[in-house]
Amino acid sequence: MKVTVWNEYRHEKIDEAVNEMYPAGIHGQLAKFIADEETVVQTATLDEAEHGLSSEVLAETDVLLWWGHVAHEEVADEIVERVYQRVLEGMGLIVLHSGHFSKIFKKLMGTSCDLKWREDEKHCRVWNINPGHPIATGIEDYFELEKEEMYGEHFDIPQPDELIFVSWFPGGEVFRSGCTYRRGNGKIFYFQPGHETYPSYYDENVQKIIKNAVKWCAPTKASYPKYGHFQALEKNLEGR
Ligand code: ZN
Repeated sequence: MKVTVWNEYRHEKIDEAVNEMYPAGIHGQLAKFIADEETVVQTATLDEAEHGLSSEVLAETDVLLWWGHVAHEEVADEIVERVYQRVLEGMGLIVLHSGHFSKIFKKLMGTSCDLKWREDEKHCRVWNINPGHPIATGIEDYFELEKEEMYGEHFDIPQPDELIFVSWFPGGEVFRSGCTYRRGNGKIFYFQPGHETYPSYYDENVQKIIKNAVKWCAPTKASYPKYGHFQALEKNLEGR
């Protein structure tokens, strides 16, 4: 399995608190716990040539993770289109936290992907509402994160194919925090935790869910359909 972790990698360079929380970058921390005997992980960031997502890199990627926040608009449309095509062909995509506003997620969803938000240093409780789903393997009824940004409904996404987690926040809000979709041959998982100044990517449950999601999003052997003009299969259609 080949995984590429994409991170915008801007907060870490300009914000001391973020740099302290994720000294190797958010991508570095994600890569660290995703990698295992079966999973080779590489990283890519916005400021690299082609944002680190050349056709060669994407062709070899089974599952792509996406973390972005302040620079969604700087992601070139050409690269977004390239990622989009790879998802349709079967590449898995895991969109994390503020990636809900990324060009690629909005393009795949076809909606605004807007939501309510508040940074107030409070905890959140993530409920496992689909315990039989492979992405929820090893997760109890619920778990708590000591600090997470409040994301609240309404979250303007299409009806998820599967809803796996719902988060509750102390302000009284709820949020569909773990959702799956299929687009073309590709599988997509959106997962809410991961604010840049909070330690969510060090949390054991969050790590377990992301690792489960990498496995679930892995491409199948499905062939990609041929579209466009099609020659009749039956000979008697000719010469009518
Ligand atoms: Zn955030």
